[in-house]
Amino acid sequence: MGGDETGRTDGARGAVTPPVQPGEPATPGPLAAGEFGAWLREIRLALRDDRDTDVACGSCTACCTSSYFVTLRPTDVAARRLVPTSLLVPAPGAPPGTLVMGYDARGHCPMLRDGRCSIYADRPQTCRTYDCRVYAAAGIGPGADKPAIGARVKQWEFAYASAEARREHEAVKRAAQFIRNDATSFPPGSAPSRPAEVAVAAVKAYEAFLGVEIPDDREGRRRLAERVVERLRAFERGRAGEVQAGEG
Ligand code: SF4
Repeated sequence: MGGDETGRTDGARGAVTPPVQPGEPATPGPLAAGEFGAWLREIRLALRDDRDTDVACGSCTACCTSSYFVTLRPTDVAARRLVPTSLLVPAPGAPPGTLVMGYDARGHCPMLRDGRCSIYADRPQTCRTYDCRVYAAAGIGPGADKPAIGARVKQWEFAYASAEARREHEAVKRAAQFIRNDATSFPPGSAPSRPAEVAVAAVKAYEAFLGVEIPDDREGRRRLAERVVERLRAFERGRAGEVQAGEG
C-alpha cells in the first residue's frame, strides 16, 4: 500500500476468496495473533528492513478493500511491470520514482480480482509488510472508514510467554495513547496523526514507555514527547543501516 509503513496510505494482502463485507469478520471468533514479544521483534525488523510479515490472513481481504492507496517504490520492479500505468500516479511527497495506486469506487484495490490479489506473487513490498495486528498491539482501531479492518483487529488476541512481554505490550499501548492524545506536547508537525501512523510510531518508540507512566504535568509530557521523537529518529537511523542494539 501507499504511504505509511504498515503498508498503505491510510494497506494489502489479498490471497483468497470470498470477499468480506464491511464490518463483517472473514472468520468469526478470536484469532491467535501469536506471542507478543516475538511479534514485536518481528514487526520492528519488518518495518526497519522492509521485510515481509507473516500474517494469518486466511480469507480476509479487508486491507485490499479499505480505500487504501498502495505505494509502489522503484524497487517494486515486478509489481510495476504488472500494474497498468493508467492506475499509477507519482506519490506526493515521496522520493522520486515512487508511484501510488488508487482504488475503485467500492474502495477496492484494482489488482483485487474475484476476491484474490491478481499479482500476489509480485505484489508491492508495501502489501508484504502490512500487518493489521499493529492496531491490536497499539490498542486502537484503523478508523471508522475502515470497518472491515476494524472487525479483524478486534479478533486478534496475543499470547504472552513472559511478564516482560506483557510489560512491552502495555508500553506499546501507552505509547499509542500518548501519541494520539497529546499531539500538542510534540514539536509542531511532528506528532503522527492517522491511526496507522500512530500505531506504527507506538511500535517504534515503545521503549520510551517501559515502566513509565504518562506524566500529569505539561513539562513532563513535553519531555516525554521529545523522547518519543528521538526514538523515532533512532529507528529511522536503523532503517538507514545503522545497527540497533539487541536487533540484528
Ligand atoms: S496489490 Fe494485491 S495485496 Fe496489494 S492491496 Fe492490491 S490486491 Fe491487495
